[in-house]
Amino acid sequence: MPGSPARKEINMELNIPSISFDDVMSVKGLVKGLEQLREIGPASLEPSSETNRNGAVCMFIHDMKNPVMTAGTSVSRLLSEKMGSLTDRQKDYLGLVKNSLSKLETLLTQFMDFLKIDSRECKPVFHSIDMASAVSRNIDGMKINAEKKRLNISFDCPELMAPVSADLMMINRIITNLLDNAIKYTDPGGKISVKVSETDDSVAVRIMDTGAGIPPQHLSRIFEPFYRGQNDSEGSGLGLSIVKTMVEAHGGGIWVESIPEKGSSFIFTLPKRKQGHA
Ligand code: ADP
Repeated sequence: MPGSPARKEINMELNIPSISFDDVMSVKGLVKGLEQLREIGPASLEPSSETNRNGAVCMFIHDMKNPVMTAGTSVSRLLSEKMGSLTDRQKDYLGLVKNSLSKLETLLTQFMDFLKIDSRECKPVFHSIDMASAVSRNIDGMKINAEKKRLNISFDCPELMAPVSADLMMINRIITNLLDNAIKYTDPGGKISVKVSETDDSVAVRIMDTGAGIPPQHLSRIFEPFYRGQNDSEGSGLGLSIVKTMVEAHGGGIWVESIPEKGSSFIFTLPKRKQGHA
């Protein structure tokens, strides 16, 4: 991790609240753990610089990911029945464990990304990209998830578009995150419409759903880190803050329009070209 302190240079005690095994095995428990980690203040660390703090927590999260991934691989092996056949009940339980582990892994990855972005380690690497193709590929990648909920995704874009100067990995991350939310917060049978449009200077991507919508009291806060509107959701509340940081790192903007019970539209814009970049 460029710019972060080497492991051996950190001579500090992390005052991390204990999280029980049962807690870790439940996604809500992990979210609680992540929120507690966020509370670790400079007072619990010596030296107390923000970069060191984020670097240390990043290492902790990284180390936490390894056993989660190992457990996931082991469960997948058991489920493949190469080591012996399983009863349906055993498969059901192992399926639940596999699901929880994969959610844990996503949450840990999100939290690490958040810390890296927070400590300004994540800078866009600008290349000339075709935004319509990038959006379309991401939609294809999410279709299986959408189909599981009988959600129809439509896509609309101009026939010819000028290239945009952007970091493709970040753009993929932004679109996947917004699509993932649209799928998560829309009831089965609903619709998701994605539209790419352009002006002389910028490109806009609109992801519209017919889902739950967002009550007005939450609208101004949903881009804040750890802010979650729906208490029963299993998310970390970090997705939109990561998305916003990435859009803004490109010199763009993001906002939401939403009507409760009718649906939401997330719109982000990016400048087409940055001077001095490809
Ligand atoms: P989470 O992991 O909780 O989904 P996000 O940062 O991605 O975290 O989103 C923050 C909150 O914004 C969510 O908890 C949810 O309440 C709300 N939200 C985000 N996208 C949508 C959407 N498409 N429809 C309704 N609510 C949404």
